Amino acid sequence: MGRIHVLSEHVANKIAAGEVVERPSSVVKELLENSLDAGARRIRVNVEAGGRKLIQVIDDGCGMLHDDALLAFERHATSKIRTDNDLVRITTLGFRGEALPSIASVSRLRLETRAPEDAAGTVVEIAGGRILTVEEAGLPAGTSISVRDLFFNIPARRKFLKAEPTELSHIASLVTHYALAHPEMHWELHSATNAMLIAPPVADYAQRIYQVFGKETLDQLIPLSAMMPLLHTGLPQPPPWRQHEPEEEAPQETGPGEIRLHGFVSRPEIQKLNRNSIFIFVNGRLIRDRVVQHALTEAYRNVIPPTVYPVVLLFLEVPFTEVDVNVHPSKTEVRFRQSSFLHEFIRDSVRAALMKARPVPAFAAEINAQPTASQALTPSRGELDGESALQITEADAGFALREAELPPLPQSLQFGNEAIQLDGNAAVPVARFGAQTFTNAAPGPAQEQARANGCTSALADDDAPVSLDSLSTLKPLGQIRDSFILAVNPQGLWIIDQHVAHERVLFEKILSQRLAHAPERQQLLMPLLVELTPSQMAVFADISDELNHNGFEVEPFGTRTIAVKTTAAGVPPAEIEHLLHEILEQFEREEQSLNLEKIRTRIAASIACHAAIKVNMPLEPNKMEWLLQELAKTDCPMSCPHGRPIVLRYSVRDIQRAFKRI
Ligand code: ADP
Ligand code: MG
Repeated sequence: MGRIHVLSEHVANKIAAGEVVERPSSVVKELLENSLDAGARRIRVNVEAGGRKLIQVIDDGCGMLHDDALLAFERHATSKIRTDNDLVRITTLGFRGEALPSIASVSRLRLETRAPEDAAGTVVEIAGGRILTVEEAGLPAGTSISVRDLFFNIPARRKFLKAEPTELSHIASLVTHYALAHPEMHWELHSATNAMLIAPPVADYAQRIYQVFGKETLDQLIPLSAMMPLLHTGLPQPPPWRQHEPEEEAPQETGPGEIRLHGFVSRPEIQKLNRNSIFIFVNGRLIRDRVVQHALTEAYRNVIPPTVYPVVLLFLEVPFTEVDVNVHPSKTEVRFRQSSFLHEFIRDSVRAALMKARPVPAFAAEINAQPTASQALTPSRGELDGESALQITEADAGFALREAELPPLPQSLQFGNEAIQLDGNAAVPVARFGAQTFTNAAPGPAQEQARANGCTSALADDDAPVSLDSLSTLKPLGQIRDSFILAVNPQGLWIIDQHVAHERVLFEKILSQRLAHAPERQQLLMPLLVELTPSQMAVFADISDELNHNGFEVEPFGTRTIAVKTTAAGVPPAEIEHLLHEILEQFEREEQSLNLEKIRTRIAASIACHAAIKVNMPLEPNKMEWLLQELAKTDCPMSCPHGRPIVLRYSVRDIQRAFKRI
């Protein structure tokens, strides 16, 4: 007697319809979920070519009976639900009965499976949805599904796949996070060339985090655990499909139940450039959810700047009847029946955990006041602005890559009246005043008055567009707060952001040395070992060549550690690890395929950023002079590699206008 059956049309019609297989990682997700539903204790994933060539998931779960092995490839064939009543209390990860047929229709699939109670196993081979062979075979208990040549029969889809490292890093991230959610299981992920993850069972989540990410990550996380009884069951309204069926009772046998939350949130000093490090599991299912995202944003408000994101690993357990998982074909979204209650519960629990760990009222202000070298890489301000209470914006949606948006490069490099580039440089508030005040073209009554008084300066005409060369004539006067150089020349008063100025100088130098194959290296006394996550490891494999061309001699050292022997000149040893993580993080989850140009400039920009003179650094006059000379020699002394302005000038005319002399 088989376990799998084809759902009646009536039930099948109530299942959220749509594409399941979008990319290799969605295949992995479906197969992993099947293995978990099958009660596996061990799961091994093998991938080749970012999953395009091969995805194989091997488990030691309940396997499939001989007859079921074929039935599983029918649409809406499932062992997990039967009636539409089951749809409102789904306890398994799968329930749609569509993953296997969908995957089999766009690949060459081989299923090997044996239920422990069967003597022989079954092998099924399907290509593009056509069954090729069905055979009996001696097999271990459990299931292995190999998916080869994904989209081989749909070239248009194949073309849309991202670069292999991108797909691989999605897969690595997915497997890693399911491994985090199941510390009691044995997980492995292997690419064609190396073992990316081998995680034997451990006692708890903290140990799994330690195992996968290392001690440093674990130390940066605050454990969290909270419980809240529900006041009522969350079905004030029956779900839409049941509204006309009053005869069917909603399941209500026990009380309203409770919500449990546990997991880890990062300390305020950990700030990520995007939401890629936020992982939310609801009843064991990895999902993205705006309500939860928003609750997290609220919890971290004023604790970290609004432009950065925490690292979060949250497990939410809610009664099955309280959450509708039948809202999205890939089952990555859910609908909570009591969402505002849940929102408050998560926000307050996370907030309480943060406050307990570190009460930091002025943290955000402090960060904003001290631009750090990597600040320019943070996503643009304003992404979350204007958000209030439960108004949830697009920005809260899920794991989507949000690359740092940079202010546009100034179009004109001229230093004319209106050309002072101010936007994006919040560190110089006086500049804002300048923009508003100095660009008034028409003279007002006060100016007329000044003219009449004969105060009009002979210098007024000395305000022609200034050539970039005039930078070399600058005489430095000193620094403002050891961060901004003040300098003068006949063209006016100049303020130079010393960090970004040096960054620009180094950036161009690094790129030209790169072109000449002559990077400046510095040897480390001892190789520095840097731990990477599996997905960072995938990215590393792809850019290690380019790192090498930039002076980094780096070798793999074990499965997830690299050994750095030399680095680009000028990078302080204490920053090497951070620099590498920053570079890898930028490429991780990159949605567009990487071209060499992009890789080169990003690496150069990161090295420049770390090697450059910092803010809050006193400079001798000759050092300031040197910096201005070097800046003058660059191709683009106006903006740093991240697009921020380097130089502000107050022309003589601006100064005269402000003093109402003209
Ligand atoms: P669903 O998971 O929604 O039921 P799928 O198409 O993913 O639909 O799988 C169809 C059926 O095949 C499942 O209901 C399950 O009975 C069986 N199955 C799939 N994968 C496995 C596995 N790894 N181990 C045991 N049974 C499996
Ligand atoms: Mg499934």
